[in-house]
Order: sequence, then C-alpha cells, then structure tokens
Amino acid sequence: MKKLLIATNNKGKVKEIQDLLKDISIELVTPNDAGIQLDVEEDGSTYAENAAKKALAFARASGLISLADDSGLEVDALDGAPGLYSNRYGPSLSLPPNSKNLGGEGGGLADADRRAYLLKNLKGKPRPWTAAFHATIAIAIPNNPSVKFAAGECKGEIIPEERGTGGFGYDPIFFIPEMNRTMAELSMEEKNHLSHRARAIINAKPILKDIFDL
Ligand code: IMP
Repeated sequence: MKKLLIATNNKGKVKEIQDLLKDISIELVTPNDAGIQLDVEEDGSTYAENAAKKALAFARASGLISLADDSGLEVDALDGAPGLYSNRYGPSLSLPPNSKNLGGEGGGLADADRRAYLLKNLKGKPRPWTAAFHATIAIAIPNNPSVKFAAGECKGEIIPEERGTGGFGYDPIFFIPEMNRTMAELSMEEKNHLSHRARAIINAKPILKDIFDL
C-alpha cells in the first residue's frame, strides 16, 4: 500500500491526523515507525513556512511523501499571541509591548504551564477572550522542492478555568460556544468534526488523492 509519513513528534496531533485520514487507503507511518528522529527548528515567519520546512525535512530523511502541520492559537486580546510561538509560549523572554504574534521561549514548559501563563497574561482584560486555532498542512514529495498547502481555522474563546481532559495543548481553556464545551470536553470524533486541523485535513484530502492517484 502507498505510504504517507505523518511528520510530527506531537502525539496528540498524530492521533488526530490518523483518525482524520482513516477513510483514505494510504498506510500512515509515524516518524517512530520509520525509525526517524528529527527535530526541525520552527524559525519561519508563517505557519506555511514552518509546515513546509518540517514536511520537506521529513520527506528528505524518510524518502516518503510527508505531511506536516504547523498550528497555533491566536488570542485577540493579546494581539494574536501566542500564534506561531504556541508550542514554546512561556515567561522567559521579555516581549515588546503590543508585539504581534510573539511568545516566549517556554520550550521547557509543559502544556499546563503554558495554559497558566496564557491566563496570567489575560488577567484583567475584558471578556470574552475571543480566539482562534489555526492549522496549515504542508505535503512534500521526496526530491521535489515544491510543497502543497491546505489550511483550516476554528473560532472560540479562552475561559479562565480548565475544563475537560481530552485533546492536548490549550484544549482545556478553549471554549466553543456552539458546543457549549471546551475542546478538551469533546470526544476525538467531535473534535475531528470542527477543529482547525480537521478543516485543514479536509482541504488536504483532494491533494493527497491527486498525489497518490486514488
Ligand atoms: P507546532 O505546530 O508544533 O508549532 O505546535 C503548535 C502548538 O499549538 C501545540 O504545541 C499546542 O500548544 C498548540 N495547538 C495546536 N493545535 C492544538 C489543538 O488542537 N489543541 C490545543 N493546542 C493546540
């Protein structure tokens, strides 16, 4: 069967992407399955740049068609932060006031510490704390520098107390008004109906079908 490498080390993302692509007849391979250990520096200035960098690096290392996702949470009251820096958001970098999409070097922090740091930064700001998750998918073919993209978004609001134990990252404080629940209170099936990543993967499916000739 044709193989697609899910080019991420994030176990939460792997589970979601495996579920989202289960109806496509492609064998999904993780970096672990392929015996690859690769940490790609996310130093691009857009989600697309970072996603492309990851997809190309994994395609080169594995010789497999590779799908990478770069995603982030954008909070309006924080001028779009943590944005591109969502996975390293933390207190150790002092930020210029009103900086757009800047986070800190919280690389050593756990998800729960990052959520606490976000809530600390929102304290005192008027609610609702409207926000959106964004995901950009990049698909790279070995020995081919051109990358295909698909994107998706999910709107909601940040709430000051954690709710739910599902998902990962900022899910317990990301409330979706239409569902009257946080992302962490949704089942995987529910999250995969409406999340930013689900929407990006839906947009990526025609590209995959084209590449794999399905
Ligand atoms: P990256 O795409 O590896 O740069 O990481 C994106 C970061 O955004 C993750 O580490 C999470 O902190 C956050 N994030 C992305 N997607 C989700 C999601 O579905 N739920 C919660 N947090 C997410």
